[in-house]
Amino acid sequence: MVVEHHVCNANSGNITAMLKLANFINGRYCAPVNNQYIDNIEPATGLVYEHIPSSDSADLELAVAAAENALPAWRNMPLDQRADILLKIAQGIENNLTELATAEAIDNGKPIGLATTIDIPRAASNFKFFAHACSQFSSEAHNMAGSAINYTLRQPIGIVGCISPWNLPLYLFTWKIAPALAAGNCVIAKPSEVTPKTAYLLGKICQQAGLPNGVLNILHGTGAGIGSVICDHPKVKAISFTGGTKTGAAIASQVAGQFKKLSLELGGKNPALIFADCNLNDTIDEIFRASFANQGQICLCASRLYIERSIYDKFKTALVSKAQALIPQDPLLKNTQMGAIVSIDHLSKIKHYIEQAKLAGGAVLCGGEQVQLEGRCAQGYFLQPTIIEGLSNDAVCNQEEIFGPVITLQPFDNDEQALTLANDSSYGLAATVWTNNLTRAHHFAEQLQTGIVWINCWLLRDLRTPFGGMKHSGVGREGGMEAMRFFTETKNVCIKY
Ligand code: NAD
Repeated sequence: MVVEHHVCNANSGNITAMLKLANFINGRYCAPVNNQYIDNIEPATGLVYEHIPSSDSADLELAVAAAENALPAWRNMPLDQRADILLKIAQGIENNLTELATAEAIDNGKPIGLATTIDIPRAASNFKFFAHACSQFSSEAHNMAGSAINYTLRQPIGIVGCISPWNLPLYLFTWKIAPALAAGNCVIAKPSEVTPKTAYLLGKICQQAGLPNGVLNILHGTGAGIGSVICDHPKVKAISFTGGTKTGAAIASQVAGQFKKLSLELGGKNPALIFADCNLNDTIDEIFRASFANQGQICLCASRLYIERSIYDKFKTALVSKAQALIPQDPLLKNTQMGAIVSIDHLSKIKHYIEQAKLAGGAVLCGGEQVQLEGRCAQGYFLQPTIIEGLSNDAVCNQEEIFGPVITLQPFDNDEQALTLANDSSYGLAATVWTNNLTRAHHFAEQLQTGIVWINCWLLRDLRTPFGGMKHSGVGREGGMEAMRFFTETKNVCIKY
């Protein structure tokens, strides 16, 4: 629903106590030119709690003008000064940890403990990491003995667009913005309209850190509204996108004619391969986390579990018992391990998949039902963690991304079968392998068709490593120098002796 409001003064007052969000353009908060807003709903209560700008091309033109104006000074700023500002942004995020984590838990429905220990600290780490990376970024020289030398310049692209999803809002937003800024670009960024709050708060932190006006511009609104317009703008020279595979495909075809640089981090349907020789107790604990962390709404979550037949029943019984003890609660309670599903639409989508699984002959071993809480969360979007077995590998629930607390179990009899089942997917983001057999671990690492393979762990992250997927899970890699290379244009210079 679009509602009209007229007052929007985000330049004063407490950064967390605002009913209406605003765009952040040229270092200032401002209302959308069209004065149109969309509702922001708290998933734990099902209630509208603020409104966000429904921005359009008029706002984008202001942002592009601001970015163009800021670009020469930002790209030419000495690296230590640029890095210093990025470090101050990281410090600002850390200083506002409680406010940001609370905002994230309200906006997204994720447990506040998770936001406090993972999401917000990681957003600060993203800025710290790329503040240091910009001073370590180097390029190559190729000598042609006796005749010439080539050297490579890696220059800022100019104005770049960063578009992010709702599941890890500030974490993924900053994972793009930080390297884009570190590489000397000016940025036009759009957070998900489902979880805009912490991106909005970031503007204030950037102001306080002394980021020059126009270097980072944050526009709010829908994908079809402002997202698509950002991708289309001829002065936005590169797009870094994280989100669904269908959206990624739409953006890829939209920008193809303009030959923009494009990084796509898309959906996943991640297999977990559990062998009889794994450390069973550790594996059960980690697989449980990999399945249900953030209500299963992490692109890297394990959703297809393949378990060696000899331990299938034991593993299943232990996992089901843990899942039955995981009770969804108000995300704002400190002890909450499972919060709300992000939106009513997403909840309906997940429930639809559970029904599909039943129709396909799947047995729901636990969960499968929406949960009605009491008190402030009575209208919230809560779902029991759900484990399903008995589906064939080509069933919809084993092939399509559900992106919720729903996993499937299948037994396998040997390594070859396990590999075939794992690779039988249009997605290729991440896989986990649980075994104490080193030879097997290396073999699977080599043969799995995914951009990331974790052996005996999950979501253990080193920000220097390449991050991303193959097949329908994306194009290109983020992380470390991969991101610095994406956000720069490469030029070879050849000098004859
Ligand atoms: P989504 O594709 O619906 O939206 C992502 C972002 O794109 C939002 O900001 C949205 O407003 C914007 N958008 C939508 N249509 C657009 C268009 N035509 N042009 C430009 N922008 C547009 O995804 P979502 O539902 O927000 O996020 C969930 C998806 O993200 C899942 O598929 C998940 O696997 C994926 N994801 C992937 C990774 C990864 O690193 N590979 C990480 C997190 C989430």
